[in-house]
Amino acid sequence: MNNIFVYCEIEEGKVADVSLELLTKARDLASTLGCRVEALAIGHNLQGIEKQLATYGAEIVHVADGEELAPFRTLPHAAVVCGVFKEEKPQIALFGATCTGRDLAPRVSSALHSGLTADCTSLEIGDHKEAKTGKEYKDLLYQIRPAFGGNIIATIINPDCRPQMATVREGVMKMEPVANPSPAEVKTVDYKKYLGDTDFAVKIVAREMEERKINIKGAPIIVAGGYGMGSKEGFGLLYQLAEVLGAEVGASRAAVDAGFAEHERQIGQTGVTVRPKLYIACGISGQIQHTAGMDGSSMVISINTDPEAPIGKIADYAIVGDVNTVIPKMIKYYKQNSK
Ligand code: FAD
Repeated sequence: MNNIFVYCEIEEGKVADVSLELLTKARDLASTLGCRVEALAIGHNLQGIEKQLATYGAEIVHVADGEELAPFRTLPHAAVVCGVFKEEKPQIALFGATCTGRDLAPRVSSALHSGLTADCTSLEIGDHKEAKTGKEYKDLLYQIRPAFGGNIIATIINPDCRPQMATVREGVMKMEPVANPSPAEVKTVDYKKYLGDTDFAVKIVAREMEERKINIKGAPIIVAGGYGMGSKEGFGLLYQLAEVLGAEVGASRAAVDAGFAEHERQIGQTGVTVRPKLYIACGISGQIQHTAGMDGSSMVISINTDPEAPIGKIADYAIVGDVNTVIPKMIKYYKQNSK
């Protein structure tokens, strides 16, 4: 049985969280399929990278290490990925739905004629029977994602071509280290044989790194506001509550579109995916495009005037009330009861 490959994004010797999330998921899929998890690390100065990758489940690490492979450039990385995949013939290949993955994965799938599902929110293994022919397929990758504006959840399969390829957005899958990781086997990729002069048509002249000013992804508590907060000033209440709780402020798309909050705070299908310990949804109706980005939260409290609002279905505690009354009370009592 061929293995599952994860393309790992690496910046200055550190593996991106999304790649570790994919390795965690790949472990699950591999145990269902009875195959192994392999990681592909392409870059420069990658000595010891296999330790980081083995911690999250990589059993074999293919390392292409060369000065010309860092920083990331689409053409040389695509050539190396295609070369390795042609030789190793993975049954499944996973990429982050990041700027890098969105650039790289379509090129690879097009070169290999393999098909690709972008922005999956879930991956599972299952069987399929073709309605017309009755032909049966075993152990396919179910590539699950919202479609038609989030109105349906589509399960996409690729019965005929390999690898079955998918991209997954950052934060969608859990990132869990292996309890007792075994050292990974390292395979050095003789990458130069895959490269030609045209792969270096793009030269990197300068690079400027900008730190994200707002980063709600890793916050353990998120106080999120929706259109029901009424105004940008209304959002001020959320910052006050966030301050007493040590939380970050998130927002629905309707709130962002109305100018109540910055786009970096948007949670959902077209925003960030978060899974905090506590998510307080204030004046948010709970449409599927929003909940797709927060339904992995450990506990959800909703505050909404409408007892029938869909957010109530996923909330552990649903407070029916006006945010302008409930939030000041929360702030007052939290301050009173905490030292
Ligand atoms: P509304 O749906 O208007 O809900 C406001 C809620 O506030 C209501 O439930 C109301 O009862 C309550 N309320 C009003 N006043 C008060 C008050 N004083 N006190 C308490 N409660 C009050 N949305 C996202 O959030 N994230 C995304 O990433 C995203 N991506 C999308 C992608 C696509 C392709 C599409 C088509 C849509 C997307 N949306 C996204 C939009 C989504 O469908 C909803 O329109 C949006 O989530 C609604 O935001 P909301 O809940 O803040 O506003």
